[in-house]
Amino acid sequence: MTNGDSGLKALHNPDIPVPEELQSTIAITSLDRIYNWCRARSMWPLLFGLACCAIEMIAAAASRYDISRFGMEVMRPSPRQADLMIVSGTVTKKMVVPIVRIYNQMAEPKYVLAMGACASGGGPFKEGYNVVSGIDKYIPVDVYVPGCPPTPQALIHGFLTLQKKIESQSLRTVPWYRSGESTAVPIPLLGPDIIDPRQADLIRRQAVQAATQAATAPSEA
Ligand code: SF4
Repeated sequence: MTNGDSGLKALHNPDIPVPEELQSTIAITSLDRIYNWCRARSMWPLLFGLACCAIEMIAAAASRYDISRFGMEVMRPSPRQADLMIVSGTVTKKMVVPIVRIYNQMAEPKYVLAMGACASGGGPFKEGYNVVSGIDKYIPVDVYVPGCPPTPQALIHGFLTLQKKIESQSLRTVPWYRSGESTAVPIPLLGPDIIDPRQADLIRRQAVQAATQAATAPSEA
């Protein structure tokens, strides 16, 4: 977290000047700015290490890089207490089901950071029979951190990018304060292959079409 003086000065609204001698103790600012300033500097990540990228994520939390400096060190093992899901590592078809389920269990406001080539797009295993081509096919991703693996510095850059995104949001337009029901992300089904329930009608039509073609095709015998 930024120290008191510079943190407070960052909050000042330049349209309403505060005397120099009071700037370390008083800030005049907007509700949006203070709301986002607090949220961005106290993100609690959900521990979700899936493969080698997780080692770099762990290194980012250890003493050499220390994400505590950004208020992000409180890694939570529970979706109830986390507002940032770091998907770090290879996302297999088997694991995407609990990832989406846990994402749905996180309370708003919540964010997702895809760490590394695997989580962002399948990485070196993209063509693998058991790997999904990016977690963004299933849940919304706010920040992508490239690399195989990304360094701890790259992950910290991702955190700072996310902070900028949070600071650009407004209480008046954020989806979680709007009226109406929020809809959960559909949980993929694990069958012979992974199935996205949103594509169920298309899959059904294609299956019927394939069965019809097979029934009407002339026999090779
Ligand atoms: S992106 Fe590279 S380092 Fe990260 S999980 Fe995939 S293979 Fe491992």
